[in-house]
Formats: sequence, structure tokens, C-alpha cells
Amino acid sequence: MVSFKLSSIIRDVPDFPKPGILFKDITPLYSNPAILEECVEEIRSQFKHVKLDAVAGIEARGFLTGILLARALQLPFIPIRKAGKLPGEKISTTYDLEYGTATIEMHVDCTSPGMQVLIHDDVLATGGSATAAAHLIKQNGAQVAGFSFLVSLSFLGGDQKLQSFGKPVHSLISF
Ligand code: AMP
Repeated sequence: MVSFKLSSIIRDVPDFPKPGILFKDITPLYSNPAILEECVEEIRSQFKHVKLDAVAGIEARGFLTGILLARALQLPFIPIRKAGKLPGEKISTTYDLEYGTATIEMHVDCTSPGMQVLIHDDVLATGGSATAAAHLIKQNGAQVAGFSFLVSLSFLGGDQKLQSFGKPVHSLISF
């Protein structure tokens, strides 16, 4: 079972990047191609009944597994980047963090109207980043087909926040 394997290799790092945060370090997954492959296959199977036209990954760790997922599904990959990184014509959205705000951006030519986009990130915490990514996709005329994460920190309420989109929200493992 991939969730069991994932739970055994994810490292808990207390007080990183600041006091009081229990950081879920998934870097050991990147050293293990067999489990990485199983994760991608499991996500494919979670969404096998959902029409998907593209996978959008959220910078930065959402790129790593997101592009593998897009490749496995033979779909285009959409990078959702932090402000100031994309060179082409783009749209932006700003959202609240625990302290301060963050801005993310996407190229306008990454989606076409009505395209069904799966949003992917490594960890679902409060759901703020995924919600902002969903707003960008919709602002550009495409549709959100669902949300995919390796890990969900369910005690932070991100799953519930994303339910408001009325689309499937799947994680491989929840804490
Ligand atoms: P969110 O609060 O859902 O917007 O999470 C913001 C981003 O921070 C996500 O892309 C996660 O990768 C990362 N993140 C938040 N909390 C944690 C945590 N406890 N461990 C690892 N990554 C986290």
C-alpha cells in the first residue's frame, strides 16, 4: 500500500521553517524511484474517472511530482509560479498567508477555455495556495477538475476549504 510506504519515508521536522511548525519532509521520496512511481500510479487511479486535460503544479515541490503525473497521463503541465518568475503574458492572484501575503502567477496561453485542469501540490496545509491556483485557472477561462496532493494535514482544514469547489480532493496520505 503506497500510503503505508509514504508514511514510513516522510520525515517529521519539528520547528521548521519556524517554531511551532511540524514540517513534513518528503525529500526521501525523491531518492526512491519505486515508491515515486507507485505514488504517481495511485494518483492516476484516484482520478481515472475524472476528465483531465492538463495538470497544474504549484511551485516549487508541486512541480516535481506534478510533471511526473502529467507525463504519466500524457497531458500538458502548467507551472503555477511565484511572482516575477514567468516571462510571458500572465495573470496573478494574491492570497493571505499566516503572516503576510503571497502572489502566484500563470501564463495565459497555458489553458484554453473550458479545459479541465487537475491542481497538484506536495502538501495540503491550509488550502490557501491550492485555492489561489484554482482562482487563477478559472480566471483564465478554464475549469478545475480536482485537487491532488501527496500529503494532507487534515487538522489544518485545507480539505474542507477545497470542498467549496465541488470537485474531487484526493491525497495519498492524511495526518
Ligand atoms: P497551504 O497552507 O495549503 O497553502 O500550504 C502552503 C504550502 O506550504 C504548500 O505548498 C506546502 O507544500 C507547504 N507546507 C505547508 N505546511 C507544511 C508542512 N507542515 N510541511 C511541509 N510543507 C508544508
